[in-house]
Amino acid sequence: MQPVQKGAMLYEGKAKKVYATDQPEYVIVEYKDDATAFNGEKRGTIGGKGELNNRMTAIFFELLDGAGIPTHFVERLSDREQLVKRVTIIPIEVVVRNIAAGSLSKRLGLSEGWELPRPIVELYYKSDELGDPLINEDHIAILGIATPEQLARIREYALTVNSLLREHLAGRRVLLVDFKLEFGTDAAGTILLADEISPDTCRFWDADTHEKLDKDRFRRDLGGVEEAYQEMLRRLVGVVPA
Ligand code: ADP
Ligand code: MG
Repeated sequence: MQPVQKGAMLYEGKAKKVYATDQPEYVIVEYKDDATAFNGEKRGTIGGKGELNNRMTAIFFELLDGAGIPTHFVERLSDREQLVKRVTIIPIEVVVRNIAAGSLSKRLGLSEGWELPRPIVELYYKSDELGDPLINEDHIAILGIATPEQLARIREYALTVNSLLREHLAGRRVLLVDFKLEFGTDAAGTILLADEISPDTCRFWDADTHEKLDKDRFRRDLGGVEEAYQEMLRRLVGVVPA
């Protein structure tokens, strides 16, 4: 496609900035080094994170696009920027889990690392003010956030993304513990996978040692945060440790 011009900043989130372009159907996403956890209570920066997450998201979205998942991704423009289709974000954080960790372990008393009998999908209302509460399809219906048909489609995409990513990561000796997706609708009403897929939004464990290669290193002050993000990129581009 022809080059787009970066326009005014439309909004700034916790990890990214979104800019208008000279073409209404596209926006530019700029990845920041800023990191937050526990609903913004913990703040910091992770050196190089913006570049690393921009690259990793591009790799994952290209993989999913190639496998037939409709996504917002167009192309990576620079170290920190990518061009995406503009969507209206559906305010649901769609979480898929394969192994118990984080809030699931806490809420249901499951030991971290317990392999679930099958993948599960959880839905959270994307609202910083409310602290992203867990919701179900009845809540989504009464709030008018998505139609039952849209929700069914979103669940189906989320589980397919899980299968594709799990298999791809297994070849890189990485376990996909859980992850969060966001979806949006374009001007025609088509549902597209949007936002990012990175160590900020996924739990990745080394398949052999169960070492954490994701934002839990930041959340839990484990150290080696930058190194973990770098290691994930190395594995995705094909450099697997012996
Ligand atoms: P947040 O603080 O809400 O997590 P981020 O910094 O991660 O925000 O991202 C900035 C915002 O960009 C988020 O609200 C996200 O939903 C939104 N967004 C992601 N992809 C798109 C897109 N294709 N079109 C419009 N907005 C998007
Ligand atoms: Mg975000």
